[in-house]
Amino acid sequence: MYAKELGENCGVCEKESEKGFYLLSMWICLSCERKIVELDADDSDYMWYIKKLRESKMNAMLLQ
Ligand SMILES: [Zn+2]
Repeated sequence: MYAKELGENCGVCEKESEKGFYLLSMWICLSCERKIVELDADDSDYMWYIKKLRESKMNAMLLQ
């Protein structure tokens, strides 16, 4: 999952990151991945990340 070496803009924080992975069609940097993993479901940031992920999933479906 961590094979990509070229910079890509993270779909969550929108910063360019060389390290990360694709979740569906969205590039996620390592720092965002850690945040998502550590967030509690009742953390306000959690819903924001989930919303981002849902948008990504919708985009992936639309592009098919
Ligand atoms: Zn990020």
